[in-house]
Amino acid sequence: MRDDFSQNTKDLLANRVGWKCSNPNCRKATCGGGIEKTDIVNIGVAAHISAASKGGPRFDENMTSGERKSYENGIWLCQSCSKLIDSDVKRYTVTKLKKWKEISEQMAVLDLEERSTSEYISDKELVKFFVQCFDRPAFKDRICQEGRMEDFDKAIEDTIVALNTGVLRTRDGSILKNSEGKSAISNEKWREKFETICDMLVALRRRLKLAKAEKAYTTYGDFEVMYCFYDRELEEWFDYTREEILKILSSVCEEVGVNGLRFPRREYRW
Ligand SMILES: [Zn+2]
Repeated sequence: MRDDFSQNTKDLLANRVGWKCSNPNCRKATCGGGIEKTDIVNIGVAAHISAASKGGPRFDENMTSGERKSYENGIWLCQSCSKLIDSDVKRYTVTKLKKWKEISEQMAVLDLEERSTSEYISDKELVKFFVQCFDRPAFKDRICQEGRMEDFDKAIEDTIVALNTGVLRTRDGSILKNSEGKSAISNEKWREKFETICDMLVALRRRLKLAKAEKAYTTYGDFEVMYCFYDRELEEWFDYTREEILKILSSVCEEVGVNGLRFPRREYRW
């Protein structure tokens, strides 16, 4: 037996995210007018976070039928994202989907409070916002001084989401919002530089994942944890790649005429 959502629950899920897909990297509109004046086309899906029936994606046998069809267990998505989350349940975990939902609901409120997105935003304003996204320890400290690799990875992920969507989750969990992501930059050269930065950030996360799987580093120290990479070149690659990212960023800042980030010169203690 399937624990399907009631129409009320479906409407609630859609309304609370402004009828947009809850994947923060997608945010596609899911509703619009049809050809007839009275028609409404809805391409959104009220997806189950934990499956509606046994054997389905992320099914949790400890949940009651009531919990399974409750608002808490639903997430509003576009059709392709609803297929995506069920095609890779290891990547799209319950925790991740709940986070998507939380972010999307907060973004819908911010959409209400913010000026209209059709208002023109200058490249300068966009770049200023993106610079803020890099002002965090993950871009300042050397890789061996990162408190926890999981936090480092999370910080990089947050930065990628911010560049793509214009929404930045800060370390304390609050949300800073600009109305647009990097695709809204009108200057092609600057836009390409931000695309390159994004690719490099993705590469950092991938390499980190691989390093973890291969146990390429160990930790030492009790009070302040330090990381030790067995491969010096790999350790340097992480530091070097982040420096390159900041170099590209500061070259855009210079060209646009906004203040770049001024990180104190790193101390190298070989
Ligand atoms: Zn989507």
